[in-house]
Amino acid sequence: MFDSDLGTNEGSVVRRRAFLVTSASALAAAILWSLRRPSLVQAKTAKGASEEVTIVEFSDSGERLKTAHVRKVVKTEDEWRKQLSRGVFAITRQADTELAYSGEYWNLHEKGLYRCVCCDNALFTSDTKFDSGTGWPSYWAPIAPENVRTMRDASFGMARKAVSCTECDAHLGHVFDDGPEPTGLRYCMNSASLRFVEVQVATESSKPSASLGDAPSRRKGG
Ligand SMILES: [Zn+2]
Repeated sequence: MFDSDLGTNEGSVVRRRAFLVTSASALAAAILWSLRRPSLVQAKTAKGASEEVTIVEFSDSGERLKTAHVRKVVKTEDEWRKQLSRGVFAITRQADTELAYSGEYWNLHEKGLYRCVCCDNALFTSDTKFDSGTGWPSYWAPIAPENVRTMRDASFGMARKAVSCTECDAHLGHVFDDGPEPTGLRYCMNSASLRFVEVQVATESSKPSASLGDAPSRRKGG
């Protein structure tokens, strides 16, 4: 009787120890994980009621269409993972940052529109893009203030303002107050959060109908 009681107690002590060790390592892993990920987007992957937001819609040629009230794009983490590549997921949904000079758009000077890679919301235009020398695409203003949101970001011990897409909460980058006139702002973005749409200057329909081999008689004045 004593023996069996002792045996049980010993067993439970061993089990408790094992449990404590397991929970301690799980806790350590959780702490490491939370340190790695900036806190600002931790709650963003949870599915909630779709809130209505106000954005300004733009055509691919950069023409301002209308102010629209749209349902916020809310997807589960799994859905985002299916839609996005691993790197784009880490940046847009987990607030990671691409390496400087590694992205597609830091040195792009073409005329066009930059949309959200997650939801297609229009975010920036080449009209406000400037060479910041940072290795990230930089703009002195968003295409419309309604289309992006800024919030305090204290991750990595820095006081910064994170910029996200109003329509889907994608993390885009940060905004700093050392930009050029007229705003003095520098929207320092990740190329991976953006999808560039080049503005087509000349279209097929604007060309005169001419047979092959005819040299164009006039060029459009500029
Ligand atoms: Zn978006």
